[in-house]
Amino acid sequence: MRAPKLLAALVAAAVLLMGGAACTSPKRTHILVTTNILGNVVAEIVGDQAEVSVLMKPNADPHSFAISAREAHAMQTADLVVYNGLGLEEGVLHHVEAAESEGVPTVEVGARIDPMEYRDGDAAGLPDPHFWTDPGRVVTAVRMLTDEIITHVDGVDADAVRQRAEAYAKEVRDLDGRLAERFAGIPAQRRVLVTNHHVFGYLAARYDLTVVGAIIPSGTTLASPSASDLASLVTAIETHRVPAIFADTAQPARLAEVLAAEAGITVRVVGLYSESLSDADGDAASYLDMMRFNTEAIIGGLSG
Ligand SMILES: [Zn+2]
Repeated sequence: MRAPKLLAALVAAAVLLMGGAACTSPKRTHILVTTNILGNVVAEIVGDQAEVSVLMKPNADPHSFAISAREAHAMQTADLVVYNGLGLEEGVLHHVEAAESEGVPTVEVGARIDPMEYRDGDAAGLPDPHFWTDPGRVVTAVRMLTDEIITHVDGVDADAVRQRAEAYAKEVRDLDGRLAERFAGIPAQRRVLVTNHHVFGYLAARYDLTVVGAIIPSGTTLASPSASDLASLVTAIETHRVPAIFADTAQPARLAEVLAAEAGITVRVVGLYSESLSDADGDAASYLDMMRFNTEAIIGGLSG
C-alpha cells in the first residue's frame, strides 16, 4: 500500500515543481498606455513581445476621460506606463504620478519630442500636448519609446522590437511624405484652419497651414468660449473666408453649428478624428488611418 502513496506524493511534488518552474519562467510583461493613439503606436512597436493595455476608449476625449479603481491599480503594477503628458490627460495624470512615486517607470512622450508652445488663446506660452498631428514627431516618439521599452520591460526580444519599430517608423515617414504632397495641393489662400480647440498647431506648422481661430480658444476641451471669443472668431472666419470649421467627432458639433448659424455665413462643419482613434471598424482605427482620414477631410472641407 505504501508504493501507490509514495507515487502519489512524487506526482504531487512533480506538479509543485512544475508549478514552481512556471512561476520562475519570464512572466508576461505589461505596458500600460493612457491614450489610444499612443496605445496603437506602442502596440505596433512591441507586437506580441509584451501585453499592451490602453486606458482611453475609442472616440473618447483625452482631456476628460477618467479611469476605474481597478485600472488605477493596474497602473501601479505595470512594467512601464506610457502617457502623452504636457497636461493632456487631466483626469488621469494624478494616477500616473501615484504610480511613479511607487517606483513604476513612466514615460511622458510629449516632453520628449521637442514640444511647441501655444501662441494664441488662454494657453499662450504653455506647451501644446497635441504633438501626434505632426508625423515627424511621432517618428521621434517611436525611437524614444523603443529604447524605453527595451530598457524597462523584461523579457522582450530587443532585436525583434527594434526591427518592428524601424518598419513602423518607415510607415510613419512615408505617411509624412504623402501628407506633405496632399496638403501642398491646397491653394495658399485656402490653407486656413478653424478647429474645436487648439488641436492642430503641430499639423499646421508641419504642412504650412494657418490656424486662424478655434471655437474654444484654449488648449483643452474643458474650457468654454465667451461671447467676445465667438465674436472675434466670426470676424476671423469672415476675414479669411474660411469655408469649413473642423470639429472633433468625439465632441458634440453643436457649438460649431451654433457658430455657423450666428455668423450668418456659409460654413461647413466637418468632423475629424483629432485626438482619439475610432473603434476597430471605424475610419480611424489606427494612427495611420486617422491621419489619412483627417488629411482628406481637411482637403475636402477647404476646397468646398
Ligand atoms: Zn485637445
